[in-house]
Amino acid sequence: MNNASLQFDILVVGAGPAGLAAAAALSQRGLRVGCLAPQHPPRWSNTYGLWLDELETLGLQDCVDTCWDSPTVVAGSNTIHRLPRSYARLDNKKLIARLIERAEDGNITWLTGVARDWARISRGVEIAASPTAPHQSPRCYEARAVIDATGHFPALLKRASRVAPAWQTAWGIMAHCKGDPILGGASMALMDFSAIDGESTFAEPPSFLYAMNMGGGRYFLEETVLASRPAFKIERLQHRLATRLEMRGVEVVEVLETERVAFPMGLDLPISNPFILGFGGAASMVHPATGYMVGRALQAAQPLAFAIAEELGRAGGDPMRAVAAGREAIWPQSTRRSRELLLFGLETLLKLNADETRVFFNAFFRLAPAQWAAYLSGTASPAEITQMMLEVFRHLPPALKIQFARAGFSKQAAYLLRASGPSFLTR
Ligand SMILES: Cc1cc2nc3c(=O)[nH]c(=O)nc-3n(C[C@H](O)[C@H](O)[C@H](O)COP(=O)(O)OP(=O)(O)OC[C@H]3O[C@@H](n4cnc5c(N)ncnc54)[C@H](O)[C@@H]3O)c2cc1C
Repeated sequence: MNNASLQFDILVVGAGPAGLAAAAALSQRGLRVGCLAPQHPPRWSNTYGLWLDELETLGLQDCVDTCWDSPTVVAGSNTIHRLPRSYARLDNKKLIARLIERAEDGNITWLTGVARDWARISRGVEIAASPTAPHQSPRCYEARAVIDATGHFPALLKRASRVAPAWQTAWGIMAHCKGDPILGGASMALMDFSAIDGESTFAEPPSFLYAMNMGGGRYFLEETVLASRPAFKIERLQHRLATRLEMRGVEVVEVLETERVAFPMGLDLPISNPFILGFGGAASMVHPATGYMVGRALQAAQPLAFAIAEELGRAGGDPMRAVAAGREAIWPQSTRRSRELLLFGLETLLKLNADETRVFFNAFFRLAPAQWAAYLSGTASPAEITQMMLEVFRHLPPALKIQFARAGFSKQAAYLLRASGPSFLTR
């Protein structure tokens, strides 16, 4: 069924959550897959959180490190929303092992190196890679098609760079603490937007505490700016976290690990390349208004692999058609329209001050769980997102209503136009 003259049907470059999930799904579909990454097995150092149901639907619920039943959102001093949806912290090592195991059920070759360049060759693509170990020499790999899963600033694909991205930034610690840093007796806070003492000196952009009780007096605590343009300085988040904890009478006894977070949100989609398909951060799959992506990438790997394997797996299958089908699986027209609405949401969020942000999230988490969950998924239909936006709008106080309505008539309206206008407008 395969074009045996080339080494691989498909070469996945990058083995972060997106690349490894794609490699596993493609290999399970019977394709000859190469996965090129700086090291094998890969190491993921980020703390990943996602909704438990996102893992359950994929049979990956055993890859959870810790899980919390009623995460909270604190959107004002007296308002604590307890969300009826379980939230999980990933056990990265377990998930990596599971995805490797799935990949090895099929036909996978693990390659170590760093992709430097690509070139079109007869019936496929050649990837030039430099070594990551001293004894290795530079190598070239040939494949009928390539997936670039090298993260937000892809190694092979290009972006038009029309819009400066917003940035999510955070400073986190895993620490032994005396005292409870999480409000309301909860064991996990998804977003605690409560004010920090002396707020007037450093209220903007607003930041929230993302907090996990890991048991035995151990907490993961991350002060996070959901989105700002330009990126907010991590050192200032470090200061905010220390102030917040001090204010709560929490003593940090020992810091076990630290985490610096900075990644772009709302980047343009990569410029279409007929032979190379982006996936994950490389394909701007990060939710434009929340920064989440891991759950979506794990889920999208399946339809992606199905679409590509259908084309590459049949006699005379065409790599260019396979790449186009893969792109359509990740970014169908309806999801691209939804993305424009979420980008509108991001731009609106960027304009809110700390108080307005709290009011907004108060209204947001008053929605029915199915509604806010659909918005957070990043794949809800344009109709679902529009309905949710109108519902939030209905719950806003008059001053914010005016601000949101104005946004609908500002240059931000271009997002709404692209979301609802003729399909050639959608990017
Ligand atoms: C600290 C942090 C915490 C985050 N937390 C969450 C979270 O809790 N939940 C969530 O949903 N999202 C989270 N995100 C956002 C997003 O999901 C992550 O950035 C995620 O890691 C993106 O996955 P990816 O596979 O696309 O890219 P990456 O994870 O960046 O993986 C890309 C891989 O490609 C490899 N690579 C790069 N260049 C090359 C090359 N030239 N050749 C070969 N290999 C290459 C890299 O070594 C890397 O392993 C977080 C981001 C950060 C930075």
